[in-house]
Parts: sequence; structure tokens; C-alpha cells
Amino acid sequence: MSVPLGKWVSIHALRTGDRPALVDVETDTSITFRELDERTTRLASALRERGVAAGDRVAVCALNSPAMLEILFAVAKLDAVTVLINHRLTATEINFILADSGATLAFASTPLQEAVIAATAGTSVTETIPLLTAAERRAGAQSEFEQLIDSGDPGAPLPEVDPDSAALLMYTSGTTGKPKGAVLSHANLFWVSLYHNSMETGLSPRDRNIVVAPMFHVGGLAVYTLATLYWGGSNYILEAFAPATWAAAVEKYACTKAFAVPTMWTAILRSGELDAHDTSSLNVAITGGAPCPIPVIEGLKAKGMAFIEGFGMTETAAAASSLSSEFITTKAGSIGKPSPNVDFRVVDKQGRDVEGDTVGELILRGPSVFSGYWNRPDANAESFRDGWFFTGDLARIDADGFYFLVDRKKDMVISGGENVYPIEVEQVLHTHDGITDVSVIGTPHDYWGEAVTAIIVSGGASNSEDLAASLDKHARTHLAGFKVPRRYFVVEALPLTATGKVRKVELREWVKELTPIGEPQ
Ligand code: ATP
Ligand code: MG
Repeated sequence: MSVPLGKWVSIHALRTGDRPALVDVETDTSITFRELDERTTRLASALRERGVAAGDRVAVCALNSPAMLEILFAVAKLDAVTVLINHRLTATEINFILADSGATLAFASTPLQEAVIAATAGTSVTETIPLLTAAERRAGAQSEFEQLIDSGDPGAPLPEVDPDSAALLMYTSGTTGKPKGAVLSHANLFWVSLYHNSMETGLSPRDRNIVVAPMFHVGGLAVYTLATLYWGGSNYILEAFAPATWAAAVEKYACTKAFAVPTMWTAILRSGELDAHDTSSLNVAITGGAPCPIPVIEGLKAKGMAFIEGFGMTETAAAASSLSSEFITTKAGSIGKPSPNVDFRVVDKQGRDVEGDTVGELILRGPSVFSGYWNRPDANAESFRDGWFFTGDLARIDADGFYFLVDRKKDMVISGGENVYPIEVEQVLHTHDGITDVSVIGTPHDYWGEAVTAIIVSGGASNSEDLAASLDKHARTHLAGFKVPRRYFVVEALPLTATGKVRKVELREWVKELTPIGEPQ
């Protein structure tokens, strides 16, 4: 049996109500589980006064703050649905999500309020309530959000919530196209939070989790934020990411768990802050959401971190598999093995299980897997077959049963009839000292059909001809000839999504305007 979100809070309020539930690192203030329970019931009743009913959608476009979680739990107590929106999207993109979700009420951090209000044009949103930034909270600014909570009734009757009803409408990152709304139920979030404990994280009420990845993406929200809450531990929430503030907060609060996306771990490792601060309280550090460069994994392991790599999607409410820290270097690059109750298969185009370590599409099922995309019968018809969700990710299984994500189906390059998986080429180029970042795509080629093309961020002032030649030599040492990039382009920075994934759709446009370095082949 699964437990609806509202109960997660009320159970801990009853059992260990004085424990801190949410800590605002920015103001060094906290609220206990008892306060969280009362505040979310008040907020639920205040939202009902504003017309929010069961099944309605409430949008949140905000910087990380405790308020985001309070809204999620208050809305869940009303059996309504929270829509978390990436605040880095443009007004047009926010407008698409507001319209698509049919949200009737919105919350927005004050710097985003104007953009969100503009984006409500032509949608059903009738009101946008501001949320204060960390700086405003520190300055003691008037908070409409606090007034709203104060206006609510702490004894308000709340509906019975069926755990299979929707709690969250979470849009995919939009790495490969327009974001799709994945409907996540209370049960999906419950099961994923439960699994976390079997993935060597051992969450308990004594855990202190540092929250730094954006909570509008499923990784930042579920790993380990929601899981920590479910288990009665405390979340320490930062508004924005910077290696120094992150490391200082981990030290100050002796945090025990940390999730960050690969780009954040890369920055943390390179910043030297791990030497400047004592982060030894962390007993698990986890990454996921995008491939993590192997030198970064090795660097963190060398710093003594118990590092785990997880694989997940918005559609799986985050973690669906993970690679235990004991295998993190011997099986580096693997996404490990599935969580209990998530079934994985790797299948060919006909839907048959592949033989040996052949590449195929990863398909999965289980109680944490979403039930479908919102308003997208086309995508649903394409993604589900016989109860299995087709991920669009290509994978293989090695002889020891470890899963390796090979690439996305959409990103595979076919050069001279050979399949080339960009992630493999990227992992090799990442080990070259002359570059700080790289992404590999296919570009049209008269002879090869597609040419393997690397877009790099150069690490220094070196001559680009030499750099191209040196990368070519490096690639030839480690890769079969057909996988070696035939073209190199240099950019200042790669176009990234908020979770640090390269938007290859954009890169394919960029290279049309750029001149390659070195000798294109
Ligand atoms: P969209 O579906 O809108 O194109 P997206 O797939 O990037 O965007 P998310 O749901 O945030 O949206 O990301 C899930 C995807 O991220 C997975 O399908 C997979 O391709 C990638 N991913 C997740 N974890 C890992 C990992 N550990 N290593 C490599 N890739 C990963
Ligand atoms: Mg996706």
C-alpha cells in the first residue's frame, strides 16, 4: 500500500514533530515537521478559499526555497496537482506549460513574477502569488505567501486522497524537443522514495540532505529531497548553486546526503572547495540525470566520497537504477542495476530481448513509473506497449549484468553505415587535458552520410590547429576509426538545460554557422 504525500508530513508531525523538516540555509531558519504539517494544512485551506479544488493544477515557477515544498504538500493535501516550471525558460515556453497544464493559479519568485504574469496571457491562470527571494527573506520583506498561510485554517477538513491520483505534473527537460508533461501520482513518488533506501543510501530520520539542484526538475526534487522528507530527515535548501556556498553549508550543517547534477560535481571538484571545507559528514554523494565524465567520478572518489551514479527520467520520478560506490570506478560509466521493483529490459526494434551485450532500447516498468503524458495521446501511443515504457534511451548489459546507457535513440550517429554513440566518444575526449567540455553530434556528410562531429570548449590558449591534431591522435588511440570525430568546432560554452544537459538540437543549428578547426576529414 502506498501513502499519499499529505500523510508523509502528518505522520512525522505526530511521531517526531520537533525535528527540523525544512531548513532555509539562506536565512539559517528552520521549520519542524509539526510546523510543516500545520502550515501546509493552513495553506491548503487558503488555496481552497482561492478556488483550488481536487484535480486543479497549481503552477510554481520559482528559485529553490522551502516554500516550493510547502506548496507541493499543501496542494497534495487538497488532492490537486502541482506543476513545477523551469524558471530559466522564456516567457513563450512558460506560456506553453501554463496553457498545456491548464493551471488556474501560479506562484512565482519575485524576479520572475513579471515574466510569469506576461506568460499567463491566454491561459486559465487568474492569479500569480509572489514568493520572496533569499535576499528579500534576509531583509525581512513583507511576504504575501506568509500572509496567505496565516489566513488559512489549521483545522480545515481535508479530502481523502487516493494514492493513484496525480500529485505532480512535471515537464521533461526538453533536451530533445518540446517538454512533455509527465503525470506523477502520489504512489509514484512514494515508491521512488521507498526504493532510495535500498540503493545503499540508508535514509533515516537522522539524515541531513543538502538541496542544491533545481527542484523544478525531478532529480533535484526527488533525490533525495522528497525521499528525505518521507523518511523524516531534514532538508537543507540553497537558493542557487555555487561550489563555495555548497561546501560551506555541507560543513556547517554536517550534511549526510547530497545530490547534484554532473555539471555541479564537476564545478565542485575543480573549485578546490572540497579541500577548503570539511565535507566528510557526507556518507553518500550521488549524481544522475546526464552522463558524468569519468575523470570527475574518479576525482570525487579520490577525495574519499562514497559516490553513486543514478539513472532516472522525469517519467520514472527520478532514480530507476544506480551504480553502487564499490563499482563506481571498475564499472565507471555504467548506470548500475535497477532499483527493486523496477524491471528493466533491453529490446531490439521488434521488441525482443537482445542477446549478450547488444545495444537496444531500454524499456521499463514498475510502480514508480508514470502513467502517461498529459495531453499527449501521440507520445503515449508511442511510449507504452504491453505495460512497458519505452524510454528512447539505448542501452546494453555487460556480462556482469551492469547496464550501460549508450545514448539516446535520437542522438545516435550513423556514419558510413556504422552506428556511433556520441556518449562513448565524449567520454574518450573528456580524458584529453586540452578541453574542459565536449559534445558529439552527427552532421551531414556527402560521403559518410553523417560525420562524427565534436564541439569542444577549449581549456586554454593553445593553437586550435594543434588542438585538433592532438584530439585526433587521442581519439585514434582509444576509438575505432569510424568513431573518430571528423570535424572539430570550438565554442565558448555548450548550450545546456538547467540540469546541465547539452541541448544538441541547438548545437546542430550552431555548427551550421561555425568554421571547423584543424583539417576536416
Ligand atoms: P526530453 O525528454 O524533454 O527530451 P530529457 O529526456 O532530458 O528531456 P529528463 O526526464 O530530465 O528529460 O531526463 C531523462 C534522460 O536523462 C534519460 O532519458 C537519459 O537520456 C538521461 N539520463 C538520466 N540519467 C542519466 C545518467 N546517469 N547517464 C546518462 N544519461 C542519463
Ligand atoms: Mg526524455
